Amino acid sequence: MINRISFLFIAVSFWITACGQVNKPDNENFNQQIYVDIDIATSMLSVTDTLYVPKAYFEDEKGFIFKLNKSLKVQVLNNQFSVKEFKKDPIKEGVLSKTYILTPNEDVVDETVMIALQYSGKIVDELKKGAAEYARGFSETKGTITEKGVYLAGSTYWLPTLEIEALWSFNLTVKIDTAWNVVSQGKRIINKEVNGKQLVKYISPEPMDEVYLIAAQWTEYSLQAGDVLVQAFLRTPDEKLANKYLGVTSGYIDLYKKLIGSYPYTKFALVENFWETGYGMPSFTLLGEKVIRMPWILYSSYPHELLHNYWGNGVFVDYSEGNWCEGITVYMADHLLQEQRGNGASYRRTSLQKFTDYVNDENDFAVNKFLNRNNSAEEAVGYGKSMMINNMLRWEFGDKKFIEAYAKFYSDNKFRKATFGDIQKSFESVNSTDLNAFFTQWIDRKGAPTLKLSDVEVKKKKKQYHLNFTLKQLQKEDVFNINIPVFVYFEGENKLTEERITMNKREQVFSLDFDKKPVRIDIDPQFQIMRRLDRKEVPASLSQVFGEKEAIIILPENSKHLNAYTALAKMWQKTQAAQGKKLSIIPDNKISSIPTDKAVWILGFDNKYSDFVNIAEKYSSVLGAEKLEQIKTLKKEGALIYAVPNPNNVYQTVGFIGANNDDAIAALSRKLLHYGKYGYLGFETEKATNVLKGSLPALDSPMNFVIDTKAEISAVIVSRKALSEVE
Ligand SMILES: [Zn+2]
Repeated sequence: MINRISFLFIAVSFWITACGQVNKPDNENFNQQIYVDIDIATSMLSVTDTLYVPKAYFEDEKGFIFKLNKSLKVQVLNNQFSVKEFKKDPIKEGVLSKTYILTPNEDVVDETVMIALQYSGKIVDELKKGAAEYARGFSETKGTITEKGVYLAGSTYWLPTLEIEALWSFNLTVKIDTAWNVVSQGKRIINKEVNGKQLVKYISPEPMDEVYLIAAQWTEYSLQAGDVLVQAFLRTPDEKLANKYLGVTSGYIDLYKKLIGSYPYTKFALVENFWETGYGMPSFTLLGEKVIRMPWILYSSYPHELLHNYWGNGVFVDYSEGNWCEGITVYMADHLLQEQRGNGASYRRTSLQKFTDYVNDENDFAVNKFLNRNNSAEEAVGYGKSMMINNMLRWEFGDKKFIEAYAKFYSDNKFRKATFGDIQKSFESVNSTDLNAFFTQWIDRKGAPTLKLSDVEVKKKKKQYHLNFTLKQLQKEDVFNINIPVFVYFEGENKLTEERITMNKREQVFSLDFDKKPVRIDIDPQFQIMRRLDRKEVPASLSQVFGEKEAIIILPENSKHLNAYTALAKMWQKTQAAQGKKLSIIPDNKISSIPTDKAVWILGFDNKYSDFVNIAEKYSSVLGAEKLEQIKTLKKEGALIYAVPNPNNVYQTVGFIGANNDDAIAALSRKLLHYGKYGYLGFETEKATNVLKGSLPALDSPMNFVIDTKAEISAVIVSRKALSEVE
């Protein structure tokens, strides 16, 4: 017993001399004082962790149950407690943690209970290919200490993990090999060499649900942007790259400060990881070597991860009622940046298209059941639909009220766990309205409406024009109560009129009166409403072929590339089967026509059916001379991929893949999944380098109707201002 106390005393006193005064923990919160010693060569982790837990936690619980990585040998340093393995919870195969119970040896009297634990062991968990995210293919580790780097997170159980979900403020002091450095949440207050080891200390007064310890040998760059220190930790020195990140980061911090409120932390660090990731942690982001160098990341994943400091890592997610943070992060980062470039409507259309293509009766679920994405359907609901719900809130209440509601949600819930219900509360308070019906319909209920416009007519009575039309909701599920934007064009007018109609029946007739003659009507042409799209509203794209539950690949029996095409077909058959989809394979000489009841892939320029999808002819006027010339060359020397509507059934899509090189075909078999949103693509060389991409225009949309085909229509729909440009 004495030994333990003196050990604690020695341990703490060493650290006090090394790091200065130990901060007194806040009584209100759970607090940890963590001292870590890492030895890279042996992968050894030694931790002295002093936990401060409110007394209340011991009153209804006899013991204190926690989980810890099973490689770590634990002992308790203060004699007030005993620790032993919790036998009721035997170790299972593949489970990383062991469960322990800590029992008080005497009555707990102090308001804040101090528990000092000491443990050490080897932490190595090899990187494994993540099976779930087929389209991303990131590797994963639960936590590891290797020569390449250190990754310790909640998933590692490197700190005691309580049964209840506590939020911890913490001080983290790390001793690690020289030339290494450490990134964690909070502010770095010590970073120096002491006795042949690097000593790094972080303080995080902000409560956290897990503590990260990331370490590697980096080159460090920094820039002070107002109150926020912007840092870049790169594995290979690259000042130009670092400066790019530091520059855009201060721009984004400024943008979100205006939009939502002050950035919640004192620093933001870009950290280069030792495997490919796109993680957003509180006050830093962990991006892989390749990811970090993709030029578009600065304007897509990077602002997304940065914004997670507000949504997810500033206001935490209470997962018991669904993950709300992805939808709003996509909306205020990815969507906002596209909107700034005038691409808001097409971004929303792509998102609705994914929902339409990937979500079906079997895999659909309510947004409040979303936790994280493991496949395209989960992404289409948890990211896409959730993003569209935010767009509807903005469209309903206007830009200013939308911004005000989220600013309030942020200040009310900062460093707390929040739910969709808290977002609802904020919108209700700012707009003085009851939004129960809206949130129940969109968050608690699955599905989306499918709209159809019909019976459009104009009647003139005296000097008034009456525009009558019918809207139907075609989905199998119950009727949705929705407000829908309707745009009306007038003869010889440069301006058009936007009307809002409310639909709450399966079929509804609407009548709008004008004193000018309406010549055309568009229903939701800017994709403001969460709904399934009609295939004819949507340009054909590869994702339609990938997303279909049943598809067939037609192989070119007489092609010299038959083996390469067959390998591609077999690989895709496997990946599709893993998602419960059926992909069959058939040679072109075994069928007499292209199926119309499923998606179709036609492989090979010399496929019997390749003329079936000859875009050069059908779309020559929209492609233009230059692209047609490029397509001609690619057909001879490169690779061409298209998606077009099946001529015998526009609701099915036909995909075509033609290449002149076996290696290129192999490369395409891996690459094409990432190009799902495109309608045509061109690639060069055996590595399949992308040189051409785009979408072919949609056929006649069933969501608009030209009443007078002879009338000249000159008005165009003007996009609204981006959310960031709202005064
Ligand atoms: Zn995200």
